[in-house]
Amino acid sequence: MLSIKNLHARIGKKEILKGINLEISKGEVHAIMGPNGGGKSTLSNVITGKEDYEVTEGSILLDGKNLLDLAPEERANAGIFMSFQYPIEIPGVSVSNFLKAAINANRKARGQEDISAQEFLQKVKEKSEMLEIKKDFLSRSLNEGFSGGEKKKNEIFQMAMLEPKLSILDETDSGLDIDALRIVSNGVNKLKNKDNAVLVITHYQRLLDYIVPDFVHVLMNGKIIKSGTKELALELEEKGYDWL
Ligand code: ADP
Ligand code: MG
Ligand code: MG
Repeated sequence: MLSIKNLHARIGKKEILKGINLEISKGEVHAIMGPNGGGKSTLSNVITGKEDYEVTEGSILLDGKNLLDLAPEERANAGIFMSFQYPIEIPGVSVSNFLKAAINANRKARGQEDISAQEFLQKVKEKSEMLEIKKDFLSRSLNEGFSGGEKKKNEIFQMAMLEPKLSILDETDSGLDIDALRIVSNGVNKLKNKDNAVLVITHYQRLLDYIVPDFVHVLMNGKIIKSGTKELALELEEKGYDWL
C-alpha cells in the first residue's frame, strides 16, 4: 500500500531524512520509535505533504501513485490521514458538521456526489457507537475548549468517519495521559481492518502494549536503523537506544 524508497528530505540546508525505506501493506500496524530529534515527525510531515520540507531524493508511493506529486489535500483525498490534521478551533461549527464538509470535499475530489443526510447520520451513529462517543460531543464546536482527551476523541472520530487507507498517528510525549492513551488505542484497535493500515509514531513503549504493532522500526539520525516485531519495542524499553 505505502512504499517509501530512499527518501531524503531537508529543511533549509539541513538534511533531516537521509534515505528512509519503508514498506507498509494493508492490514498492518507499524510503529516507529526512536530518540527525540531523530526525524520521526519530519517523516510523517513529508508523507502528508506539509510545507517547509524539501524532498531531494526518493519516492513515496500510495497504491502506486507518487504522493510527492500531490498537494496535501490531494494526499488526504487519496487516503492519507494524519492526527491533528485539523487542529483549528471553529466556534459555531460542530464536530459533526465539520466532518460532513470534510467527507464531501473528499467525495468531490473523487467525482462523487455529496453524502446524503440519511447516510451521514447512519455513519455518525455507527461510528460513534463503535467508539463510545456521546451525542453531545458531536454537537460541540470543533476543538473549542477541548481537553487533551477530547482532542484525541475528536481525532479518532475523524479517522473513523473519513475511513483513510493509511492513518498516521504522531503521538508526541505531550497530551498522552492514561485517558488519552486509552482513547487512542481502543479507537485504533476498533478501526483497523484488513484493508487499511496504521503508522503509529511514539516514544512510549506503553502505547504499544495496547496497540500491538506487526512491525516496529527505529528511526535515528534520519534513517531506519533497525526493524523488528513487537519484541523489539520491549527490548528498546529495557535497553534504550544506545546499543543500536
Ligand atoms: P522527532 O519527531 O524524531 O523528535 P523531528 O522530525 O521533530 O524529530 O526533528 C528532526 C530534526 O529536524 C531535529 O534536529 C529538529 O531540530 C529538526 N527540525 C525539525 N523541524 C524543524 C524546522 N521547522 N526547522 C529547523 N529544524 C527542524
Ligand atoms: Mg520530537
Ligand atoms: Mg516528533
